[in-house]
Amino acid sequence: MKHQLETDILIVGGGPAGIQASRMLSDSDDNLKVFVVRPEDFSMVYCAIPYAIEGLIPLEKTFKKDALVTETGTELIRGSVESVNVDDHMVALNDGRKIAYKKLLITTGASPFRPPISGIDAANVFTVKTEADTRRILEQFDKRFGADGEKTQKAVVVGAGAIGIEQALAYRANGLEVHLIEMQDHLLPQMVDADMTGDITEKLIETGVQLHLETMLEALEGDDRISRVHLSGNKSIDLNPEIDFVIISVGMSPDIAFLDKAGFDRVNDGLVVDKHMKTSAQDVWAAGDCVSFNSGIDGAPLGGKLATNAVPMAKVAAGSMLGKDVSYPGFFNGAVTVVGNLRIGGTGFTENVARSRGMDVYTSNGATSARFPIMPDAGSIIVKLVIEKGSDRLVGAQVLGTEAVAERIDLLTFAMQRGATIADLSELSYSAQPWQTFFPARNAIVEASSKALMRR
Ligand SMILES: Cc1cc2nc3c(=O)[nH]c(=O)nc-3n(C[C@H](O)[C@H](O)[C@H](O)COP(=O)(O)OP(=O)(O)OC[C@H]3O[C@@H](n4cnc5c(N)ncnc54)[C@H](O)[C@@H]3O)c2cc1C
Repeated sequence: MKHQLETDILIVGGGPAGIQASRMLSDSDDNLKVFVVRPEDFSMVYCAIPYAIEGLIPLEKTFKKDALVTETGTELIRGSVESVNVDDHMVALNDGRKIAYKKLLITTGASPFRPPISGIDAANVFTVKTEADTRRILEQFDKRFGADGEKTQKAVVVGAGAIGIEQALAYRANGLEVHLIEMQDHLLPQMVDADMTGDITEKLIETGVQLHLETMLEALEGDDRISRVHLSGNKSIDLNPEIDFVIISVGMSPDIAFLDKAGFDRVNDGLVVDKHMKTSAQDVWAAGDCVSFNSGIDGAPLGGKLATNAVPMAKVAAGSMLGKDVSYPGFFNGAVTVVGNLRIGGTGFTENVARSRGMDVYTSNGATSARFPIMPDAGSIIVKLVIEKGSDRLVGAQVLGTEAVAERIDLLTFAMQRGATIADLSELSYSAQPWQTFFPARNAIVEASSKALMRR
């Protein structure tokens, strides 16, 4: 048939999951023909978009090199898959080409969710993920400079998760008046509990971001462009429709509409896969943001749209496609962000989330200085542990501090992956050095777990 290509393995999507799987599959056997299909000119480092918007790095630095895919022998095909016929083992691209595969891996990711409220499709309401999204936002800044000089410009960011906060900070860095809207009572509600957010909230407000907690976005008013944002509690924010804009950052939806007619098992959060990342269709695997998966702690469904989940899922999918007996343990969702000199992170369940999932938990905190207290600029570190009653197993942790927060989150994630109890954590062996660590006698993780042991 004209325009028909054939391959052993076809990967749909060129994000972290697709790239990771393509490298493992191509590396495994020189004779294995692997194709990656993706629509965009460049795969992007999405996490760095706020820093391109802030102006710290040029946008082009967020583009990944195609060699990441092609240097292992994978063929990169530009295009978008419009449909999949699982019976014929064939996909159809938007340009009319068809590709026959022996095995298919779907890694099409997710797109920012746009809540169905009036005005959501107006020309100055944006979401942030793609190169086009980022360029559109950067273009807004140019509108500030009219014939009469610079005008005050406003951005209203909806959603105070890590992406929303990083966006808000990037607009403040550009001198905009920024409003950050969050329906929960604290920042980063999926990542940490309210009691960990005092300092970071203060730090955010210090930057000039105007924070509206316990506030819902109700409607966006305007014609082609929004001129007023309606919030709960009869509040509203007036916008200059010429130059102001709204950013919606309230979660992600899986990009699986092209599979609507293909009969895959799916739920709202994505394709249903087993622990080997195999879908309900013969010879089809899926990994990354386009799948729905379970918590590694209680085994029940949990959101986990992070690059740090997508990559390990892709490794399991690639291994399973090669016939290896590998399985994915589930999401722990270790994640971190930063406001000024304060870093914050969470892993596993927050106290709130653990309770909402029916878990009986207690908590314990440890607080020490980030360096030896006698050293210059010794900041502080607070660690909060969430512990299951009865088993004393660690089921969540949060860290706030001036340095090495991500490293501590990763250590605590690993402890959870290995089913560590507070007794195990209280025996943690650690290093100490005046510039880099806690005082030798006081390690915040050991302190928090030892306190919990004494009080239980
Ligand atoms: C602004 C921002 C900041 C983030 N920051 C972090 C962070 O700090 N840490 C972290 O862990 N995660 C972060 N994430 C999340 C992370 O980027 C995603 O979890 C990750 O990219 C998911 O990888 P993926 O390969 O599953 O999907 P994606 O990266 O979304 O890639 C999907 C690919 O599939 C392609 N595709 C979609 N549909 C089709 C089709 N029909 N045919 C062909 N190709 C298709 C897409 O174009 C894309 O190439 C951030 C995300 C955003 C948007």
